[in-house]
Order: sequence, then structure tokens, then C-alpha cells
Amino acid sequence: MNNPAILVINCGSSSVKFSVIQPESETTLLSGLAECLTTEDASIKIKYHANSEGISTKTKALAAPYDHQEALNNLVKQLNILNLVQNICAVGHRVVHGGELYSQPTLINEDVKSTIENLAKLAPLHNPTNLIGINACEKAFASLPQIAVFDTAFHQTMPEKAYLYGIPFELYNQHSIRRYGFHGTSHYFVANQVAKLLNKPLASCNLISAHLGNGCSVTVIKNGESVDTSMGMTPLEGVMMGTRCGDIDAGIIFHLVERLGYTLEQVDTLLNKKSGLLGISQLSNDCRTLETTMLEGKNNDSALAKLALDVFCYRIAKSIASFSASLTELDGLIFTGGIGENSSWVRQQIIAQLSLLNFKICDVSNLATRFGASGNIAAESSRPSSLSLSLFWVIATNEELVIAQQSALLLS
Ligand code: ADP
Repeated sequence: MNNPAILVINCGSSSVKFSVIQPESETTLLSGLAECLTTEDASIKIKYHANSEGISTKTKALAAPYDHQEALNNLVKQLNILNLVQNICAVGHRVVHGGELYSQPTLINEDVKSTIENLAKLAPLHNPTNLIGINACEKAFASLPQIAVFDTAFHQTMPEKAYLYGIPFELYNQHSIRRYGFHGTSHYFVANQVAKLLNKPLASCNLISAHLGNGCSVTVIKNGESVDTSMGMTPLEGVMMGTRCGDIDAGIIFHLVERLGYTLEQVDTLLNKKSGLLGISQLSNDCRTLETTMLEGKNNDSALAKLALDVFCYRIAKSIASFSASLTELDGLIFTGGIGENSSWVRQQIIAQLSLLNFKICDVSNLATRFGASGNIAAESSRPSSLSLSLFWVIATNEELVIAQQSALLLS
């Protein structure tokens, strides 16, 4: 097979993100998104990427699918029309929770599927929908190997002192209640990119990586391995996010239930979907909307938008500072994800609050490094006292490429 490609699938509860990637040349042939599945607004769009034969990037809407299976069937039809099916040698799936069992990409068989199903007790929102994608792909691409790449895998190197909660040990021993961490594929990708920029092997890099999107997490990487991360048993723990609260006093949950009459389902929705930037601003979970409203500076909305962004940045800065407990040297701090890659305001606010570590940002490069540009945004004099020279990197993440490369590696 000439230039084999991997179909990468990221299946959410009402969406399927997909891309076809040639891992060796790191070329994305097409990508797309089916969203609002099982509702009347369901849609699917495919983006054909520019290629060396001069075909330019264009986006096309396909016939609206009903569910995940139909979305994938529509995709197969397109791949056939484009003569791409014969180039695809495997399907790589993003699977959110691999528990303690999976620290590497894994060829999917019936046993692996039932383990992913069992792990749904730890990730009830994610693993079942990832399985929908796996089952739908088995039907649509019956002859192709399917590979699972787990979001938790990169963090399986965390030591006990980082992954244990301060609760009775039998809850870990008997019920697997511990910190797992997420966004592992993204943290791994950006760390690897920075290692290349530093011209050092990843195994000798010490980095802190802040993935700031709708979901946000900060990870500390020592000698190339994740040694701590802000998310926990679920993606709810850690820094404040778009709609998730991040760390709160667990006593608040008792208060909501016992004193304010919330049901557990309502608490779940409140903390996962109505908190964070959205909850404080009462306006939006979208960082762009909040920055624009804040800068208008005229009314109550602007004040609340600023407050939400202030809490957001402060909590991220605190999380970064706390990870100095895990390192004796720092080669760099990385910003990635939709906010980390694009919001110069958020980056500036975070770094400004780390002045005790002598972190200083270069305003000019900070402004220039947005909308897909990668680069170093540290001021010349940014040198954490007693640490090595530190650089702040903005790196566009590419989880799909990691899934494609790891799938290809497993097959070879
Ligand atoms: P997800 O976690 O869903 O993958 P993304 O990584 O795409 O999310 O990040 C989405 C976030 O990125 C949103 O809050 C969005 O407002 C923010 N974002 C995207 N572009 C910009 C920008 N130019 N300035 C500020 N924030 C941005």
C-alpha cells in the first residue's frame, strides 16, 4: 500500500470527529465533524485539505445523518468516491478512560471492548460513546484493524503520591478510586514538539504543559514522563474550565443536597455543565465572547466576564506554581488548546501572576503567536531563580496525528 493512511475517530455523545491522516508524512487528507446526532439539527461536514497536486482546501456538507452509524456510513461513501478507502490501513479511536490497564495504544478485540465497557464506571459520559464509535466502525470497516489510544495512558507514569487521594486506601485498592488525568495525547504531543525545538530528547525534558480549551488541564512532565496532572478520577477536578467547576470543597456537594434540596443529578449538571467560565459570567463559556464583553467595559456583563476570566487565570497560575513541587529544573511552560493557542490576554494574565518565579512574557511575541502560529513568548530575562533558563511555548496541539502515528506504530 502506497502511503498508508489511518482513519482517526473521536466519538462523543452527539458527535463524531474524524480525519484521514498519513502518519509518515504527517499529512491530513481530510477531516470533518458530524454533530447534533440523533436530533433534527444533525449535520455532517467534510473538509478536504489542500494537497501537493493543487487541490485546495474546501468544505462540503453531506446528507444529514441520523446517528453515529449513519454518519460513519456517509463517511465511508465519501471515502469510496474519493478512492481513499484502499489507502486506509486501520482505524485509530480516541478512548477517554483506560484505567490502570492501558498505558499504550491497544489493538481492539472483544476483551478490550468489554474492558472499555467496564471502565465506563469511571467515565460514564465518555467510554460508552467511544464504544459506539468502535462498534459502528467495525460494521463500516469490517476488514480493518481498530486501535484504541487512551487519553489517560500518558499519565500512567504518575507516582502513587500524585495519584492517590487522601481517602481510605481500600477505595483505591478495591474500587480503583484514584487520579488518572486526561488530555494525555495532547500533553504528549506538545511536549514532544517542544523537545524537538529544544533539540533534546523528550526523555531529558522537564516541562509544564497547560492545555486550555473547553476542558483544561495542566501537566508536569519530568524527564519526558507525566508525574502529575490537574485532572483526577474524572475530568471535573483541577483548574476551572468552560463549564466545569474544577476543584471545589467536597463539602459544597453535601450543602447543595442536604440544605438546598438539589438531587445528585442536578449537582452533576451544575458542576459539569453550568459552572466554570459560564457559571461565574452567567454569559458564556466561550473565552472569545468573554474577552470581547470584558473589553467593552461598560456594564454588569463586562464586570462578570472579567471576574470569570480573572478566576480562570488565577487558578491556572496557581496550578502551574504548585507543580514546582515536582521539578528541580524547568525547560519550558507550554500553552495549547483553543484558549492556550489563541488568547494572548489569558497567557499574559497567567504569566504575570508567576512573577515570584521570575516568569516574564514578551508582549510582542505573545501578540504575534496566535491563530495557528507556534513559538516562544518568554521575555529574554525570564529565568526562574535557581532553575535553568525557561521558555514559554505556544504549540498548536494535534491529538489526531498522535493517534494516527501510534496506531501505525502498533501495526508495524
Ligand atoms: P475543546 O476542549 O472543545 O476541544 P478547544 O480546544 O477548541 O475546545 O477550545 C475552545 C476554546 O478556545 C473556547 O473557549 C474558545 O473561545 C477559545 N478560543 C478559540 N479561539 C480563541 C481566540 N482567538 N481568543 C480567545 N479564545 C479563543
